[in-house]
Amino acid sequence: SEISQETLRSVLAQFALEGDVLSVEPYGSGHINVTYLVVTSARRYILQCMNTSIFPDTENLMRNIELVTSFLAERGKGTLSLVRTHDGRTYVEDGGEPFRVYDFIEDTMSYDQSPSPEVFGMAGEAFGVFQKDLAQFDAGLLSETIAHFHDTPARFEQFRAALEADPLGRAAGVQEEIDFFLARRERYGIVMDELASGALPLRVTHNDTKLNNILFDASTHEPRAIIDLDTVMPGSLLFDFGDCIRFGASTALEDEKDLSLVHFSLELFEAYTRGFVGALRADITEREAELLAFSGQLMTAECGMRFLADYLAGDVYFATKYPEHNLVRARTQIQLVREMEEQQEAADALVRAVMEETA
Ligand code: ATP
Ligand code: MG
Ligand code: MG
Repeated sequence: SEISQETLRSVLAQFALEGDVLSVEPYGSGHINVTYLVVTSARRYILQCMNTSIFPDTENLMRNIELVTSFLAERGKGTLSLVRTHDGRTYVEDGGEPFRVYDFIEDTMSYDQSPSPEVFGMAGEAFGVFQKDLAQFDAGLLSETIAHFHDTPARFEQFRAALEADPLGRAAGVQEEIDFFLARRERYGIVMDELASGALPLRVTHNDTKLNNILFDASTHEPRAIIDLDTVMPGSLLFDFGDCIRFGASTALEDEKDLSLVHFSLELFEAYTRGFVGALRADITEREAELLAFSGQLMTAECGMRFLADYLAGDVYFATKYPEHNLVRARTQIQLVREMEEQQEAADALVRAVMEETA
């Protein structure tokens, strides 16, 4: 849906911008929000029309972003900076669509392609710094804008419900994959249970830790800011760490059909762990460190059971390009979990070594 220049200009008029608006053009390659680059006579801004079908609770979403970015900014850390409206609000609605404006973060670069160990290590450092900078932030202040996002036991229950319903009779053809997820049910609660008991600290989680959501300094290549904070929620740092390992320590894409190409790379795991633990060392707890390698398995199994559940349900949630697409995705995740399990001791030893080296 194209938004007219007239609408964009009248939206911008409500924000306290420096200078006169010279141009508003579509910008970047985001898939969730509609992003524009705004050039004024004084500087540049980012304007976003937010996606209310994915995030219906704009009020709480913006409150989360406001809380996290102001905490970081007060401590001199690089972060997104919201531009307020003339009457002090963080967003406006026009024609039922919510819009927000950020200062444009200048002189940065980001990576889109699948990571080399070096780039993946820099991503680990960037998310480690993000966690470190927010270590004293009270994550209990944040709203859960998407309920039960990484609640693996709840995801498992959804998988079981899809299996029970089996509307297309697909279950009979994928018994092996079904059994894989049923067999591991005892482990799905570990992180949620320990968050509830206090054995693991509640922290800010980003929940969309893609490479292109990190802005690196164009000249020094140091991480400047983690952007795209829509999915910021309370949770465990193991969610973000595990999800990064899930997609970034794999040698293939998530929908690779040829399983002989899909492997868990200990080299990529090591690169990410060194970057992440190196940045966060003093603030990571012993228990978090013990579960780092396991979190890769947990997030990969969670994602795999979501793909399989959606295959069973008739492909209602994830966009698919062919009828078996979700099944192909479930199979890559299963293969990765298997290899992560086989290499768990090596991965745990690596985490311990990095913890000792950086102590
Ligand atoms: P995704 O598909 O990753 O969820 P999205 O639609 O939520 O994306 P963003 O990631 O917030 O959108 O922004 C899209 C792109 O715009 C970013 O990848 C980045 O290149 C650019 N961008 C966003 N905010 C800023 C900013 N404050 N300064 C500079 N560039 C920015
Ligand atoms: Mg993004
Ligand atoms: Mg986003």
